[in-house]
Amino acid sequence: MHHHPPNFIHPTEIPVSELPNCPECNAEFTYQDGLLLVCPTCAHEWTPSDEKSPDGTAADDSAVRDANGNILQSGDSVIVIKDLKVKGSSLVVKGGTKVKNIRLVDGDHDIDCKIEGIGAMSLKSEFVRKA
Ligand SMILES: [Zn+2]
Repeated sequence: MHHHPPNFIHPTEIPVSELPNCPECNAEFTYQDGLLLVCPTCAHEWTPSDEKSPDGTAADDSAVRDANGNILQSGDSVIVIKDLKVKGSSLVVKGGTKVKNIRLVDGDHDIDCKIEGIGAMSLKSEFVRKA
């Protein structure tokens, strides 16, 4: 009998640094501990979803954010941060106006809402902040 040495057993291949660098100290020795990522250099712990993705590939890329970068959701109340002319009319939505129960939509103006004294209109999320 002739036996080949078993050549199909390899050590588990660990993908080369799929993990991001530490957001605190930028060390590259990040390891995963359950759902957390841990940096052994500065002991910072974080969850991968906290990670900012400057290249915009994250799943929340489509999220609608207010002027401060907070994510808005349908049903939220927001405050208009500057005077906004209402297209096709002489009405102005004053900065500071509170708008309840917004609805997020796709498009240039990504918020549909109803404003007291004005009626249904569309706003840009960059001109509001979460109330
Ligand atoms: Zn660190």
